[in-house]
Amino acid sequence: MLRFAPSPTGDMHIGNLRVAIFNYIVAKQKNERFLLRIEDTDIERNIEGKDKEIMEILKKFNIKWDELLYQSQNINFHQNFAYKLLQEKKAFACFCTPQELEIEREKAKKEKRAYRYSGKCEEITIEEASKRAEPFVIRIKKPKSSIKFEDILKGKMSFDPNEVDSFVILRADGRPTYNFACAIDDMLHDITYVIRGEDHLSNTPKQIHIRKALGYTKDIIYCHLPIILNIHGKKMSKREKASSVKWLLEEGFLPEAIANYLILLGNKTPKEIFTLNEAIEWFDLKNLSNSSPKFDIDKLRYINREHLKLLQEEKLAKLLGYEDSQIGELAKIYLEEASTLNELKNKIDKIFNEKRDYKDFEKEANILKENILEVIKNSENFDEFKKELMKKSSLKGKQFFKPLRIMLTNQEHGPELSKIFPILKNKIEEVAKWW
Ligand code: GLU
Repeated sequence: MLRFAPSPTGDMHIGNLRVAIFNYIVAKQKNERFLLRIEDTDIERNIEGKDKEIMEILKKFNIKWDELLYQSQNINFHQNFAYKLLQEKKAFACFCTPQELEIEREKAKKEKRAYRYSGKCEEITIEEASKRAEPFVIRIKKPKSSIKFEDILKGKMSFDPNEVDSFVILRADGRPTYNFACAIDDMLHDITYVIRGEDHLSNTPKQIHIRKALGYTKDIIYCHLPIILNIHGKKMSKREKASSVKWLLEEGFLPEAIANYLILLGNKTPKEIFTLNEAIEWFDLKNLSNSSPKFDIDKLRYINREHLKLLQEEKLAKLLGYEDSQIGELAKIYLEEASTLNELKNKIDKIFNEKRDYKDFEKEANILKENILEVIKNSENFDEFKKELMKKSSLKGKQFFKPLRIMLTNQEHGPELSKIFPILKNKIEEVAKWW
């Protein structure tokens, strides 16, 4: 089974979505089940409703999960396994207070060395611990030898026992830490591949250590993905709008285009424009670059435009809020100068929903208004229309084209009138309302 394990603690980041997409693709390729695990054990950081928002986003991307689990549902397993390790002396009760630990941390910082747990409580037996009244956490004892694993992108990895350290697995209030809950759940759900961001790389030896201590022998295959950077080569912070999937969708980027871009990013692919289903046929984690890709919104805009071109006219019209598929046809012409649904909608809405402002061409517009409807109805194509209207109005050049364009499109610039004319001719009653 593969899994996507988001924390419901904020807007979904594009890096998370990329992780979800890759896990989903590999699950499909391997014909394995796909688990959506909401990692909700960090209750202080959970934000109400974010779980549902994640699910809504995944649905928009056509990422379907076979099972849904809230990590907190497994809390009894987490606690029982922690006590099992305690009984087997693979873990110990630690009574060090947060203040004591903070002092040690500060000391390590001053001495410019990485903080490691002092080992102070390591020899406390369960019997002794059960007699003490103060709160305690449970720490797993650090491993006796290095923890080794092979990562699909990073290659062979090895962490020595001190790097893994004797770390907390169960908090004083009985809640598991992230590493413990994650390691147990991956074991309980028979996870085969863990694909996640490289910010989790140092967690992996800890999680492997936990499962080994519990006697679990299956090797999970790991792939840690380089973090996506912004165009300036810096980590994309949550405050950068384009890092939020919700923002991209609200801006009018299509899910299929965002998915296409995230699969393309830092990857060798047989083509540039593709669907998620196509990617399932050839996607290979091994082709991903091991260095951080840069998120380029202009490239995404280009990809979005390509996907908008591929949409059926009727569907495009609906996305823009119109029923008539001719609006989809018209919108495709406007793709010359728009890349998102919002930009397109803005242009199309102007044509059908706004009163005209002719600026310096009020007089000319009034002349055109006298004949235009009749001429349109009797013209086969734009050339015929143009010639006839010029004749009737005695206008030419700028005096003719400027007001005409505003009448027809409510915009001073845009695609060639001859291209959009056949559609506007059919919709002329709706356009003429605003003259
Ligand atoms: N909840 C963690 C995150 O969102 C999951 C990491 C993992 O996949 O193990 O980063």
